[in-house]
Amino acid sequence: MSISLIGRSIGESATLKLNEIAAILRAKGEPLIHLGGGEPKTKTPLDAITHAAGILSSGEIRYTPADGIPALKQAIIRYTEDFYDRKVAPENVIASGGAKQAIMVALQAILDPQDEVIFPAPYWVSYPEMIKLCGAIPIPVKPEDGTFYPRLQDIEQNVTSYTKAVIINSPNNPSGAMYSREFIAEIVEYCEKKDLYLMMDDIYHRLIFDGRRPISCWEFVKDKSENSKLIIINGVSKQYAMTGFRIGWAVANKKLIEVMTNIQSHQTSGPSVVLQQAAVGAINGVQSSVESLRMTLENNRNIMMQELNAFDGIRVTPPDGTFYTFADFSVYSKDSTKLANLLLDKVRVVVVPGVEFGMEGYIRLSTCGSVKDILEGIERIKWALDPNSPNELFIGERKLVRDWL
Ligand code: PMP
Repeated sequence: MSISLIGRSIGESATLKLNEIAAILRAKGEPLIHLGGGEPKTKTPLDAITHAAGILSSGEIRYTPADGIPALKQAIIRYTEDFYDRKVAPENVIASGGAKQAIMVALQAILDPQDEVIFPAPYWVSYPEMIKLCGAIPIPVKPEDGTFYPRLQDIEQNVTSYTKAVIINSPNNPSGAMYSREFIAEIVEYCEKKDLYLMMDDIYHRLIFDGRRPISCWEFVKDKSENSKLIIINGVSKQYAMTGFRIGWAVANKKLIEVMTNIQSHQTSGPSVVLQQAAVGAINGVQSSVESLRMTLENNRNIMMQELNAFDGIRVTPPDGTFYTFADFSVYSKDSTKLANLLLDKVRVVVVPGVEFGMEGYIRLSTCGSVKDILEGIERIKWALDPNSPNELFIGERKLVRDWL
């Protein structure tokens, strides 16, 4: 069979694959603990449901403008004013099928084959594949000081005449690191000076801990005209626990949004009107669910840290936000894929191998489930890896005997 060069270069989404495996094992009645997930378990906000139900019951479910319905654009305009102190026009906004599509269409709008895109490691699994889908080249950059916090010089050292864009995701999936105001200011100024696109993937910007406040990258933009090459990405998936609704958006200069709209109009004609209405409900509605989710996640982070700090040999940096902890398990295995497979196979705990995020020896542990999941999941992992733990473990009625250490 003849498959395109680009098609062949794209790997499957490791995180979506894990969800699939987890669903199959659960359906078989396996006592699975899912610490691999990327979605909060709280319910959809009521305002989202009533809005979606409203349009559904009208029976008039039609095509929408490819860049989104006016009501959603207005909600995004207000959101942008609230969080970025930036007044934008409807022509500066596009609503897409998740932040994922917003990022993809933006990359398709700006990248030529062989262009390079720089982003710090560890990074969200989809960035390299999306860049490759455009025929361009991903340039992941590991902070030289070994932390999860890049410095401007880490980025600067990798800029070449081929560099077209930088992607910054803070707080970060998978490390949970929220980059400092100083770094955000520096990177905004640097990209502006170098005439590079800067994509700020702010999908987790409200899910932050220890009294932190969301940082507005727009504050540091000097040329606030339509020449600005700043692209702000956001969506309802994480903050409103609405992953299944698939609504995200981009805010950028009008010309870029026009090109993104043209591309999206030929790809999907834009997201479903039912789901766009749900997003309008969530963004304009009561916001208490965001704060309650944020508090739950902070508590879960604290419990995860307490458990990992008592785990011999594991090195971990406390996450500043998100629902992920990215822990160094290299004392137990240098091969994170093997380690993740062992944990799934032997103790039915799902984790994501660090290599998928550009850091071998690490594993990503999610804290978006219950406290019980975190406690039991880490207990099982400890039992599977630590030779000092007893030889037997009970999972419900099932007795496990460790014979692999
Ligand atoms: N960016 C990052 C960093 C993410 O973690 C995710 C979801 N895992 C997305 C974008 C995409 O989110 P959405 O569900 O809105 O497509």
